[in-house]
Amino acid sequence: MRRIAIVGAGQAGLQLALGLLAKGYHVTLTTNRNGEDIRNGKVMSSQCMFNAALQSERDLGLNFWEDQCPAVEGIGLTVPNPENPNEPLFSWSTRLDRYAQSVDQRLKMPVWLDEVAKRGGEVIIQDVGVAELELLSTSHDLVLLAAGKGEIVNLFEKDAERTQFQQPQRALSLTYVRGMTPMSPFSRVSFNLIPGVGEYFVFPCLTTTGPCEIMVFEGIPGGPMDCWQGITSAEQHLEKSLELVNRYVPWEAERCRSLEMTDDKGFLSGRFTPMVRKPVLTLPSGRKVFGMADALVVNDPITGQGSNNAAKCSKVYLDAIVARGAQGFSPDWMHETFEQYWSYARHVVKWTNTMLTPPPQHLLELLGAASQSKPLASAIANGFDDPRNFAPWWFDAQSCQAFIQEKTRQAA
Ligand SMILES: Cc1cc2nc3c(=O)[nH]c(=O)nc-3n(C[C@H](O)[C@H](O)[C@H](O)COP(=O)(O)OP(=O)(O)OC[C@H]3O[C@@H](n4cnc5c(N)ncnc54)[C@H](O)[C@@H]3O)c2cc1C
Repeated sequence: MRRIAIVGAGQAGLQLALGLLAKGYHVTLTTNRNGEDIRNGKVMSSQCMFNAALQSERDLGLNFWEDQCPAVEGIGLTVPNPENPNEPLFSWSTRLDRYAQSVDQRLKMPVWLDEVAKRGGEVIIQDVGVAELELLSTSHDLVLLAAGKGEIVNLFEKDAERTQFQQPQRALSLTYVRGMTPMSPFSRVSFNLIPGVGEYFVFPCLTTTGPCEIMVFEGIPGGPMDCWQGITSAEQHLEKSLELVNRYVPWEAERCRSLEMTDDKGFLSGRFTPMVRKPVLTLPSGRKVFGMADALVVNDPITGQGSNNAAKCSKVYLDAIVARGAQGFSPDWMHETFEQYWSYARHVVKWTNTMLTPPPQHLLELLGAASQSKPLASAIANGFDDPRNFAPWWFDAQSCQAFIQEKTRQAA
């Protein structure tokens, strides 16, 4: 039986571990927090996942929360009027072809971790460093590092050509709340783009205490939404969140009259630099470690793609490992497998990065035109499920014009 070691119990590591177990592999899953630590810890993400990624979980029988988790049925966008920031310049919303969902990772990962053990995997709770990677590599045919934003992933060399930014592009914050008035007639990611300040988006989720909404703030560094320093309690965090909503997106404030935090760990703030790393790490012994998901391609959460990417990466890797049969997992195979994932992920990176810099004129026109054209709004919203579909019209002014015209004709 082929022996595979995976480091990290996040979306990528656990989904791959469970996929390999179903195919009869011996799996060792090593991670630095047990299920209880994860369940009782702070929120880590807003983890909204779109249909293709959700389907990859369904295919493995891992969609345990699909019936309880509120559906995210659509996407909406509002941009404030620069002349009068108290009212929108334009606002549109549209249904997704298939719903998205967000299951709090504090709920999901402990259950998946238990499932690895139940399905015959070996689970080791340990903080992994170079020495542990060496050990794993002597006793396994392949070692995968799926440690997300853990310090250890810095062992992978940065890919300077594929990395656009040298600093964090947003100050991030999450606030998990109950009591928000639902959006009607359909639930949605309600996305607000506030020029010069940042972005605020909010959508339903299933957390440890039941259904909730997650308020996500993406503040431009040094700007007025980069304001979480010194906030240590859930109450202070909620107070600051409400202050920002009242000030920058007053049309959202109506929904927030009687909010309370879901729990005292339902908040987060921080920042990180979006980055692409090279996929193969050579240990001092010369043995190789293969990276995956956020460990190699980490995006700003502005487009909500990281968990989706992790699920898609784990599917590419699972298929490649199985297709390899009894042959060795050579460095060439690792590079080829990563390039296969990158042929998808590069589109996500390119699109996500455009959201982090001031938008060019054609994008402003596109987003505004979507308020007059349902087919245009629908193409933008459904692109979140597969960002490859944004090319070329999102990036190129001429293609964008042609696309707007085509979709406007369709609308007429
Ligand atoms: C504020 C915020 C909002 C987000 N919102 C969304 C969203 O709406 N939609 C979306 O798709 N994505 C979102 N993401 C991104 C998403 O959460 C991540 O991309 C995704 O969790 C990555 O999965 P992963 O398995 O690669 O890594 P992770 O989920 O980070 O898992 C890494 C695992 O490795 C373990 N680990 C780390 N270091 C070590 C070590 N040395 N030894 C052993 N174990 C180790 C960790 O404990 C963890 O179990 C968001 C992220 C943030 C920060």
